[in-house]
Amino acid sequence: MTAAVGRVTAPAVLMYHSISASTEPDPHRIRVHPDRLDRHLGLLRRLGLRGVSQTELVHAVDRGEAVGLVGLTFDDGFEDFLTTAVPVLARHGMTATVYVVAGHMGATNSWDTGPQFPIMTAAQVRAAAAAGHEVGSHTMTHARLSGADPGVLAAEVGDSRRLLEDVLQAEVPGFCYPYGAYDAAAADAVRGAGYDNACVTGDYAPGDRHTLPRCYVSPRDTRAHISARLIRHAARIRRPLPAAPGR
Ligand SMILES: [Zn+2]
Repeated sequence: MTAAVGRVTAPAVLMYHSISASTEPDPHRIRVHPDRLDRHLGLLRRLGLRGVSQTELVHAVDRGEAVGLVGLTFDDGFEDFLTTAVPVLARHGMTATVYVVAGHMGATNSWDTGPQFPIMTAAQVRAAAAAGHEVGSHTMTHARLSGADPGVLAAEVGDSRRLLEDVLQAEVPGFCYPYGAYDAAAADAVRGAGYDNACVTGDYAPGDRHTLPRCYVSPRDTRAHISARLIRHAARIRRPLPAAPGR
């Protein structure tokens, strides 16, 4: 085993939301221009890194083969993932995970008070998967899961997985906590619903594979910002992921 393998124990995961050239207001700072995403992915390639889906990344970590990989994730399941992000990803030969708010397929991000944008329909979610990307769950309603009661947890975590599995006719291994809000009960519900892995929204040492850290990408991040985030992540994350649960 090389020193590099030992060092890359929890590779960086970049967190995007909407990828769009729209100039409409973006009060929550979740929209990255496709040209900017293109520059970010070009930077990864120049650094010898390849972007992959979160589950591919976690499984590569399990095998000790994650050197050179970076996770790419897109939250909420906006329609522009399929129309705008997927072509950019394809140009760079990279894959990603899109975390879909399952109860909002074919609707909008009405959990936000700000501007409304379309969420992928079930057919578009299938198209994203057919293009080689992972579809993960981001609950039914974009609920805040920390402090949620057991009934809410079961519905948001379990029902969203069943709904997406029904849409995809395939297993859904990945989950993402809305607002990055979780507690022990929420993580237990995610594990109990059968998810293989789950991620939060902050970049700090992970508790386990169901609370994996990510690096937020802001609408104005340049290549230098992305480099700095990757370096900061490498300095912060030194702990290996716990072993995979028995399957
Ligand atoms: Zn979200």
